[in-house]
Amino acid sequence: MKWYAHIASTLALALVLTPYSVAYAAAASILPDVVEKLLGLPHRSIYMHNYALPLLLSPMFFYPSLAGIPLGVLDHIVLDNLTVHGVYLFERRIRGFMNTNNPLHNMIAVAASILLAYMLS
Ligand SMILES: [Zn+2]
Repeated sequence: MKWYAHIASTLALALVLTPYSVAYAAAASILPDVVEKLLGLPHRSIYMHNYALPLLLSPMFFYPSLAGIPLGVLDHIVLDNLTVHGVYLFERRIRGFMNTNNPLHNMIAVAASILLAYMLS
């Protein structure tokens, strides 16, 4: 998904699930890709994108003011999972049908997140 879709999707979920850290959630929603670029890793690298970053940040779920950070990263991975390139889960690539460069697919992903947030509220 495009970064705007990651940010919008996470904002919808963060407003319901982690209202004390909405801004952190929005920033963290693109963190896996930013960290990969900074470290010179390939896009959607198995270990950094899908394992190391989520595991390092997961303890923040216990602090309401920081809980948006792992939420943003987790939502990023879930949305990437919906694309044809997918993400790795235990050495196996899990793929969806969405194309990152298709604006309609990005809007569908955001709409699904808004619907999920509405259902959770
Ligand atoms: Zn990504």
